[in-house]
Amino acid sequence: MATTRLKLGRFSMGIGDRFGLEGRAQLRAMKKALEHGVEVIPVWNKSNREHTIIGTEPSSVRTEADEAVQAEGWTLPYFVDADHISLKTVDRFLHACNFFTLDVADYIGKPASDEETKKFIELMQPVLGTLRHPAFDSEINLTHVDLERFAQKYLLGLLEAVKIYEYLREKKGEGNFITEVSVDEATQPQTPPELYLFLAGLAHYGVQVQTVAPKFSGEFLKGIDYVGDVNAFSREFRSDIGVIDIAKEKFGLPEELKLSVHSGSDKFSLYPYIYQHLTQYNAGVHLKTAGTTWLEEVVGLAVDTRGLAIAKKIYDQAYNRIEELRKPYETVVDINVTNLPSPSVVATWSSDEFVATLKHDTKNPKFNKDFRQLIHISFRIAAEMGAEYISALHAARHIIEEHVTENLYVRHIKPLFLGG
Ligand SMILES: [Zn+2]
Repeated sequence: MATTRLKLGRFSMGIGDRFGLEGRAQLRAMKKALEHGVEVIPVWNKSNREHTIIGTEPSSVRTEADEAVQAEGWTLPYFVDADHISLKTVDRFLHACNFFTLDVADYIGKPASDEETKKFIELMQPVLGTLRHPAFDSEINLTHVDLERFAQKYLLGLLEAVKIYEYLREKKGEGNFITEVSVDEATQPQTPPELYLFLAGLAHYGVQVQTVAPKFSGEFLKGIDYVGDVNAFSREFRSDIGVIDIAKEKFGLPEELKLSVHSGSDKFSLYPYIYQHLTQYNAGVHLKTAGTTWLEEVVGLAVDTRGLAIAKKIYDQAYNRIEELRKPYETVVDINVTNLPSPSVVATWSSDEFVATLKHDTKNPKFNKDFRQLIHISFRIAAEMGAEYISALHAARHIIEEHVTENLYVRHIKPLFLGG
């Protein structure tokens, strides 16, 4: 079984693509990485939420990925991720996907039955004790009290992950899909001991988890840099690497198990820390940075005169429909409306002005993170434009693709996997 199991590899990236046209440009960034000696495995991810907003089906992502791989002559593995699925939403992804992100955040903080809790606490007794790893600042002591607290908070989520995994195993066959378990949309960050117990539980119930997405401290808002204490993140990330190392060895979890960072795109200030820890502890990572490609699409459009008119139209409507657009993203955007320029002002802007306002360059005084976040959540409007939007994307193909490749390679892959 273990020899035939699909494996993700040490470094991988979740590269979503709202409208399915940028697969080749994205893959060219991975090819550049390869030329520089590092394998970064592409994973095209699109959540149920995105499919629903845009009106697409998972099979379109599969087609995009297969065609891009064929056209670019990519010979390494690649995956299509059913991002943030639950038992309720998984069916539509079964055929198209070979990577499943089991999202159990909604079950956290709700208790399991007394009977299940009691049984779990008994089962996990051998796991308690002292953990030591060079990545820890000091040893971790896991006590009975920690275990009880963990069971109250996480057991129901853990058991839900087991249910989804068992369902997938029945439908797809063991080893024929990559399993990620995500709790990144929980309301509170997980501590390293909680992550350890979570992995112990998954291993006990036979979940062959290859990536795990905890919620880290700080804010991971859509399309903008990390908001929070980078040193606290760094410490947490490093401790989680240690926890994963120990869990792999003790519980027989897949050797390729690694952290998954759901970045919400563009957490540039964290990349040097992540790179340093991956290198120091010989660890892997999966980084999801999907929305960044959609934003580069709009940047690329705005460079061209015809595309600029489309980009302004998207902004105009987004400005007037902000509450509706913000709703599905309430916890992951933080837009200060008073910083948004009025559409009548934006209507007078040149290409340069629009691009400078949108492009994620915090050194540029024109950059506006509220403007950028609003554009990030406005792909619904582009989807509503239908053929008008798609034909503009085709017209500006060359320049958009350059932006997409350059953004992924220079701003993400280089600092994260090549150290600068
Ligand atoms: Zn996520």
